[in-house]
Amino acid sequence: MAKLVYLGLGSNIGDRMEYLKAAIERLSRARVRVLRASPVYETEPVDYAAQGWFLNQVVEAETELFPLQLLAATQRIERGLGRVRTVPKGPRTLDIDILFYGKAVVRTERLEIPHPRVGERRFVLAPLADLAAELRHPVTHHSVREMLDSAPAATVRRLTELG
Ligand code: AMP
Repeated sequence: MAKLVYLGLGSNIGDRMEYLKAAIERLSRARVRVLRASPVYETEPVDYAAQGWFLNQVVEAETELFPLQLLAATQRIERGLGRVRTVPKGPRTLDIDILFYGKAVVRTERLEIPHPRVGERRFVLAPLADLAAELRHPVTHHSVREMLDSAPAATVRRLTELG
């Protein structure tokens, strides 16, 4: 059974827009059918401020992969696109977070779904709201719109139209 999943993409080094495009192409080749992509947002870094601004985007996709297989696929794409971790939570060429996997709740050491910080990050919630404002968190039952309304302040600027 195919599951509907939402993935958060982020890049803050190099040609950020190209990294987002390349990630979407590679997802499609990794048995993750991208159905819709949000507008791209430029966002201020939150965890570690002394780094460049990010481009962020959320994609809605369909996949037959199980959650850990999906994580392996997204991590392979991150590695393939040259992600180099120097500072934890610091700059990265490409980061892919699994935000939601259907209504599944996964809590393991390697993987937590929904993504544990999805409710507080404007850089994820703003693009996610463009695709699925009424989607509800399977544990808190808050909608994406409600989470966005109560998320801590942070600058996010929409750069492109809904594709
Ligand atoms: P980060 O450096 O923020 O991309 O974190 C990567 C680590 O988070 C990896 O070791 C993953 O195993 C772990 N992780 C836990 N839950 C998730 C999730 N929902 N999506 C992506 N990575 C996750």
